[in-house]
Amino acid sequence: MHLTHLALRNFRNYADAELTLGPGLTVFRGANAQGKSNLLEAVAMLALTKSTRAEQERDVVRFASLADTPYTRVSGTAERRDGGAVEVQIDMALGPGDSREKLVFQKRLRVDGVPRAAGQAVGAIAAVLFSADDLDIITGSPANRRRYLDVLLSQADRGYLRALQGYQRVITQRNQLLRRIREGLARTPELDYWDGELCRLGAQVTGWRRDAVAALAPASAGAYAAMAPDDGAFEAAYAPSIDHDGSAEEVSAHAIALLAERREREVQMAQSLVGPHRDDLLLSVGGLDVGQFGSRGQVRTAALSLRLAEAAYLRTALGEEPVLLLDDVLSELDGQRRQHVLEAACRAEQSLVTVVEGEDPPGLHEAVATYTVEAGMLRREG
Ligand code: ATP
Ligand code: MG
Repeated sequence: MHLTHLALRNFRNYADAELTLGPGLTVFRGANAQGKSNLLEAVAMLALTKSTRAEQERDVVRFASLADTPYTRVSGTAERRDGGAVEVQIDMALGPGDSREKLVFQKRLRVDGVPRAAGQAVGAIAAVLFSADDLDIITGSPANRRRYLDVLLSQADRGYLRALQGYQRVITQRNQLLRRIREGLARTPELDYWDGELCRLGAQVTGWRRDAVAALAPASAGAYAAMAPDDGAFEAAYAPSIDHDGSAEEVSAHAIALLAERREREVQMAQSLVGPHRDDLLLSVGGLDVGQFGSRGQVRTAALSLRLAEAAYLRTALGEEPVLLLDDVLSELDGQRRQHVLEAACRAEQSLVTVVEGEDPPGLHEAVATYTVEAGMLRREG
């Protein structure tokens, strides 16, 4: 799919911006702090229904609007392969009873004008964001790698997001119960119901992640080898907390046994110690953990490989090409790596690429449109 129209009102440093887009490669060029990343963040937000960059959701509301009428609107229209169009609109505004001092924004999503819950709107527009923060997937904590899988799977399958959200609610409730048991306010048999739910939903989440990693592993290894042919082989392997092969029922039964083993310790710590919230994704080059031992270049290549594999995964899962969003990633790359990423960007149905003024990487002559970004304003150059 490709975006045909994008509109931002009071989003970050954009007061009011509108853009008509076509397939192919579009370049956004500008000095630092002008709004290049903000623009791609807005597109990623349309795809995921939330920002992956903002610490708090309200951070995206343009500061200058806070004194007047605080609200944000992002909307985008994309054309699908069958020629049909989909419009996603995100509104954030103060709810009726909210005081301005607290600034709690209510978010409303619409798909084709119809109000939707986040779970129904995610992935209506499909996108993959490449950014400098991606290095955290490799060098950060397991939570970063789980988020990588969650973001990808949520866009690919709404059933996954439903299972994941259900699972997360179970963990919250179960941890509260463990605390009450520790304090003598509840009894251990009360855990049985939550154990069942943890295992049922946990087995679903585990199964989805296992299948995803099975598809991502060869794709990311291929991308890595193309970018760094002289390096060792890149491997992505799923390390599930509930490590058991078999049907969802068998995995679930295995999890029940694990929980029984850890029950005492769980009560002591008031924490659920078994389940996909403890999963990891092991990433290695030539048999060595990249996050721990990889060079800067290897870490960067590994991160790019995972994003390229994500795009391929979504293409297969959705039967649609995701929009590629490359936030300032080309200029840091050299030789084969840049060539490979650039080729992927040119081959994709649509790529939106940001570059810092003066750091223009070669190879962007294939751009179908170029914009200058300056202080939250977009100017078409060619
Ligand atoms: P760089 O080349 O350094 O990556 P950039 O063009 O990508 O720069 P952005 O990250 O898009 O820059 O935007 C940076 C500017 O947006 C910052 O100056 C920041 O202060 C501003 N900004 C961030 N959030 C808001 C907000 N809610 N309201 C107004 N301005 C904001
Ligand atoms: Mg930026």
